[in-house]
Amino acid sequence: MNRIHNFSSGPSCLPEEVLQEIREEMLDWHGSGMSVLEMPFSCPEYRAIAAAAERDLRALLEVPASHRILFLQGGAYAHFGILAMNLLTPGRGADYVVTGLWSERAAAEARRHGAVRIAASAAREGYRGIPPRESWQLDPAAAYCHLTTNETAHGVQFRELPNTGTVPLVADVTSDFLTRPIDVSRCGLLYASAQKNAGCAGLTILIVREAMLRDAADLASSVFDYRRQAGSNGCVNTPPTFSVYCAGLMFAWMRRNGGVPAFAQAAARRSACLYAVIDGSPLYRCPVDPAHRSQVNLCFRLPSGELEREFLDEAARHGLHHLEGHSAVGGIRVSLHNATPDSSVEALLAFMRDFAARRRAAA
Ligand SMILES: *Cc1c(COP(=O)(O)O)cnc(C)c1O
Repeated sequence: MNRIHNFSSGPSCLPEEVLQEIREEMLDWHGSGMSVLEMPFSCPEYRAIAAAAERDLRALLEVPASHRILFLQGGAYAHFGILAMNLLTPGRGADYVVTGLWSERAAAEARRHGAVRIAASAAREGYRGIPPRESWQLDPAAAYCHLTTNETAHGVQFRELPNTGTVPLVADVTSDFLTRPIDVSRCGLLYASAQKNAGCAGLTILIVREAMLRDAADLASSVFDYRRQAGSNGCVNTPPTFSVYCAGLMFAWMRRNGGVPAFAQAAARRSACLYAVIDGSPLYRCPVDPAHRSQVNLCFRLPSGELEREFLDEAARHGLHHLEGHSAVGGIRVSLHNATPDSSVEALLAFMRDFAARRRAAA
């Protein structure tokens, strides 16, 4: 078996230990005589899998009893619109803080369903940082204030959750989910696609304050109706059963390995090493304000597109893959997830130092 060093932003690498578990249980889950792929979602075996996943996630993020956890389909992109359908009831608008490609898309989708105000935007500066909180134009009557905690394409991350007063915070936490602690009690709704840091595609994880659901709209589509989904424990229709199973294995793996604080420490340590190499060489340039640089998606440029191509080609020959920036941004992007092995980070650091040294020698 020859596995690559995989720096993909998502679907991203999984721990080998978890992949082995999936393989071992593939044909016969825990003596049930069936694969998870074959289980009806109402059977006790699947219900136990989903309940364990929920319990472990609740423990990992210390989710308070005031908040429900829902395992739904659609992906975060679908929920950009679905959450607006649920929460933008007639006469109420929402505030959006736009700090990169993903929050821009979240606002654009929501706008199709109701009144969306851009409370702050870093678009004019090319998404290199986060507008200071004092400059945000928040509406105290807004249904919610939406932000993206980590901008996967631009490499911009909130250090901490901003204070939005009495307006509930709604956050897309897809790309830094479980890479650091988050105070769930301060949020109305958190949502994340699973394939960045919690398993495989097909699953959207929602953590929502029960009180938020009480005020939600009554939707024409039951499957998209958060209140009805909560009422039937996410089983209005077939949940993404295999993805829930994989997420559950990831949660259990994280708990065995020190929980969120241990992964937060690793993210801080590993991203600091990488930014030190980027800042330490005139060849690499990270455009993001150091105060808001992402610890998950590290974006940087080389002096020309030609050199960036050369960097990516050579990296691939060293077994280092999926380092190209998002197509809307270009450049290089290193994605470090909880499952990224230290050995991959070390191989990349060595390659980057060596590539820069050889360029210097050639100049
Ligand atoms: C990847 C990503 C999405 C989109 O996820 P899908 O599963 O493709 O819908 C949304 N928001 C952020 C922050 C992301 O990183």
